[in-house]
Amino acid sequence: MRIFDPHIHMTSRTTDDYEAMYAAGVRALVEPAFWLGQPRTSAASFADYFDALIGWERFRAAQFGIRHHCTIALNPKEANDPRCTPVLDLLPRYLGKDGVVAVGEVGYDSMTPEEDAAFARQLELAVEFELPALVHTPHRDKASGTSRTLAVVRESGLPPERVVVDHLNEVTVREVKDSGCWMGFSIYPDTKMDEDRMVAILQEYGTDRMLVNSAADWGRSDPLKTVKTARAMLASGFTESDVDKVLWQNPVEFYGQSGRLVLDDLPGFSPSPETFSGNSVLRGGGQ
Ligand SMILES: [Zn+2]
Repeated sequence: MRIFDPHIHMTSRTTDDYEAMYAAGVRALVEPAFWLGQPRTSAASFADYFDALIGWERFRAAQFGIRHHCTIALNPKEANDPRCTPVLDLLPRYLGKDGVVAVGEVGYDSMTPEEDAAFARQLELAVEFELPALVHTPHRDKASGTSRTLAVVRESGLPPERVVVDHLNEVTVREVKDSGCWMGFSIYPDTKMDEDRMVAILQEYGTDRMLVNSAADWGRSDPLKTVKTARAMLASGFTESDVDKVLWQNPVEFYGQSGRLVLDDLPGFSPSPETFSGNSVLRGGGQ
């Protein structure tokens, strides 16, 4: 089984997670830029984070046999903080770089006018840089938030096939499917979607334009939820090829629109003396 996790925040995960993911079949992932839990206080803080996403984290994943890509954006939550919004002017510098496969996560958190402005501006950047967009939907007011999200996407002129609307559930999936956008589902340990609910959605709505992710981050989450969903699909009668479509081919097709996916095999995670800016993921005897 080969797995592509289209939404996971590896910066906040350990090397044990990388090892477990590789062992379970994860060979590629996308790490969306998001907030850090602790609020940032300046645009410079984003610059260091973006540099880590395209540099250090990509290198670290490769040491464990996993191809790392990222998306770059001002996230919806911090779009409300005037100390952070100047980062919008920094984004073009990053959106042209290797390994950056979309603009994201953008969208709504509390649906404020500030979020409206940042969302619309960043969809413009997606059009300008010919990139897909990863759109986060709010965890509160999900139904109205999703409708409003789709209206803004339509207005942006970004073709729906270049947009994934993420964190969907049974209530929001229909409207997004009808819009022509891709549908993203985050599978969490004890809230929101779980594997069985995901399988039921796939049975009802089919496997086209469906993306399943773990959205694992610094909160309670599980980087193997992609694999567990794949197993639940098989247990309920989906074929190996259905699983491959949802957990590999779909994310490849969606993020492949950037022209920047790199998916050839890495030689595996050998405890080699490779370093990144003088740092090895090994300690002690590493370098
Ligand atoms: Zn996320």
